[in-house]
Amino acid sequence: MPKHSPSTLNPRSPLVLDTRDLPRRPGALREVQRVVPAPADLGVELISVPEGADLNLDLRLQSVSEGVLVSGTITGPVRGECGRCLREIDDSMGVTIQELYAYEDSTTDVTTDEDEVGRMQGDLIDLEPALRDALVLTLPTNPLCREDCPGLCPECGTHWDDLPADHSHQQIDPRWVGLSQLTVTEE
Ligand SMILES: [Zn+2]
Ligand SMILES: [Zn+2]
Repeated sequence: MPKHSPSTLNPRSPLVLDTRDLPRRPGALREVQRVVPAPADLGVELISVPEGADLNLDLRLQSVSEGVLVSGTITGPVRGECGRCLREIDDSMGVTIQELYAYEDSTTDVTTDEDEVGRMQGDLIDLEPALRDALVLTLPTNPLCREDCPGLCPECGTHWDDLPADHSHQQIDPRWVGLSQLTVTEE
């Protein structure tokens, strides 16, 4: 029974790297620089790369004895919502990738778990899982529009930036209002 399911990677998929022209000789190098459209749902709940946005791949593929080492950076825009005030965040991100993809049926392939080391499918490498993992570690789970965002007034939901410094919802108890009026009429 074959250890691997038949290749399901599409070599033309934007985050699939084809290593056919990288000699399987340790030390052989290829640079990959390209701009690809971001897949859907790339990011975390409150901040993510918009689908179809330009992802800049700046990668180095290096043959090692058991596979291909992919290293470099992937950068792109991120859009999200401030965790304190819900304002839109337009920012950019950059992640560093360093991942070994083992050749099919290499010793590394046979002796390691799938979650320890990446796997090649024939000559193809699927970058997407590594990119997703790196992004989850890089993007804030509670993104802020700015470091010191004061957030919203919990009473009226207005941004503190748009409120006067003495903004307050403290009201005089209506019973006391009555009393003070009483006092005034007595005079
Ligand atoms: Zn904010
Ligand atoms: Zn308020």
